[in-house]
Amino acid sequence: MTRRNLLALAGLAPLLRAGDAPVHAVLEAVARSESIDPTLRQVCDELGARPAGTPAMRRAVDWALAEFRDIGVDEAHAEEFTIPMLWQEGDTRVEVLEPVAFQVQAAATAWSPPTRRKGIEAEVIDGGSRAGDIERLGAAVRDKIVLMRLDEVRTFYDLGIEQRDAIVALREAAAAGAAALLLVSTRGDRLLYRHIHSVNGEIDPLPSALVTREDGLRIARLLDADKTVRVRLRLPNHIEHDAPDSNVIAEIRGREKPDEIVLLGAHFDSWDMGTGCLDNGVNVTLVIEVARAIVRAGVRARRTIRFALFSGEEAGLLGSWAYVRRHCDELDRFVAVIVHDMGLGEIEGYALNGRAELEEPLRKALEPLGRSAPQRNTTEAFFGSDHFDFLLEGVPALVAMQDTSGYVRPYHSAADTYNQVEPGQLRQRIRTAAAACFGIADLEERFGPRLDRQGVEQLLDRTQLDEQMRFLHFWDQWQSGARGRAPSGG
Ligand SMILES: [Zn+2]
Repeated sequence: MTRRNLLALAGLAPLLRAGDAPVHAVLEAVARSESIDPTLRQVCDELGARPAGTPAMRRAVDWALAEFRDIGVDEAHAEEFTIPMLWQEGDTRVEVLEPVAFQVQAAATAWSPPTRRKGIEAEVIDGGSRAGDIERLGAAVRDKIVLMRLDEVRTFYDLGIEQRDAIVALREAAAAGAAALLLVSTRGDRLLYRHIHSVNGEIDPLPSALVTREDGLRIARLLDADKTVRVRLRLPNHIEHDAPDSNVIAEIRGREKPDEIVLLGAHFDSWDMGTGCLDNGVNVTLVIEVARAIVRAGVRARRTIRFALFSGEEAGLLGSWAYVRRHCDELDRFVAVIVHDMGLGEIEGYALNGRAELEEPLRKALEPLGRSAPQRNTTEAFFGSDHFDFLLEGVPALVAMQDTSGYVRPYHSAADTYNQVEPGQLRQRIRTAAAACFGIADLEERFGPRLDRQGVEQLLDRTQLDEQMRFLHFWDQWQSGARGRAPSGG
């Protein structure tokens, strides 16, 4: 323990009155913390964008390790893993050549294959706006550049629809022999962003790019007016194989059952356009500041609390998958995994990912928050964040469900920077997360059991996660045993 932390302990010890549960001292340390905003500014402004496997991410890992050591946690280290493919955008160029020449503002779709050096020049065909539209065009699509005019997104739910329609459009355009796909941005004000359309580690079957809504709809209107539109598309994307990357892991050991573990996690990597603030710098800060508050409070929960900053999430949950593989012998001792990855909005509840029996112990763990405890815990189940490989291993997995009204517009775009933050909001989220992880780690009874493979199978069926996994071509990995709990229960 560093000198600085001893001083911090001396300062806060009187906060714990006789009879108070230790968690109250942690909440008091959160309330008094002066490090929350400076930490978030460092993550967003000084580290900046942190794509998995890049030198920027390696710098971020070193910074976080130094931060955890400075806090004085019991242990902090990096765990290296390999990301099979490192994709980076080159100098993307999209130009309309006919019927009038203009430059189109565009961004390559993540994991799009590169085009040949001189690019692709072809006629544009209107691919409609929904899944199924391209398929109906049949042979007319062959060798054309397909323009998909997706609807504008307003809600978190719309983001899911956009993702589904874009994935289907890509598959349909590739199957019909298109030359390339242009997706119209689902947000105005010339906003561009980046997602992947494959989560199983494969490069897309077709070159594709996102074009601004303004430019994309202009092309669509030209097509509506029966003009022949010719476009030249150059996507010199760089692809490297087997890049090193790391998760950052820290730990505060439990006072009674140090072998039992509650993991609080958030992904540290981001896309390259903004500075990864709402996705997910705010929750990286949350994880670090929960650790700091516990050390400052000078208390320990019954069980060990482990802190994880995963990389590789945006590239397909790669860091948390690597973590689960590396720690497979320990997973019986994982009491819960709690993941925050939904921005900065109010935490309305935790999603228990299909485990109704966890509702009561969670309510109990959150009791110290009093009236500000999240009221809408649900059994809802999710695919897309770092809890998922733990879920497949049968470990109780919680995801913070947040108000997403401020999250959707800047999502994965250049607008996802510190400017999105309203002061004071993050302290409330840290308070909730501290209560959740310390509360669960400090329960007298174990929070929940680990499910065997059959139990996980039933959960996937009950929650219809199996359908999502099939759609995303993720099911094979579960079926083959590459991901998830082994049938023997080992
Ligand atoms: Zn995220």
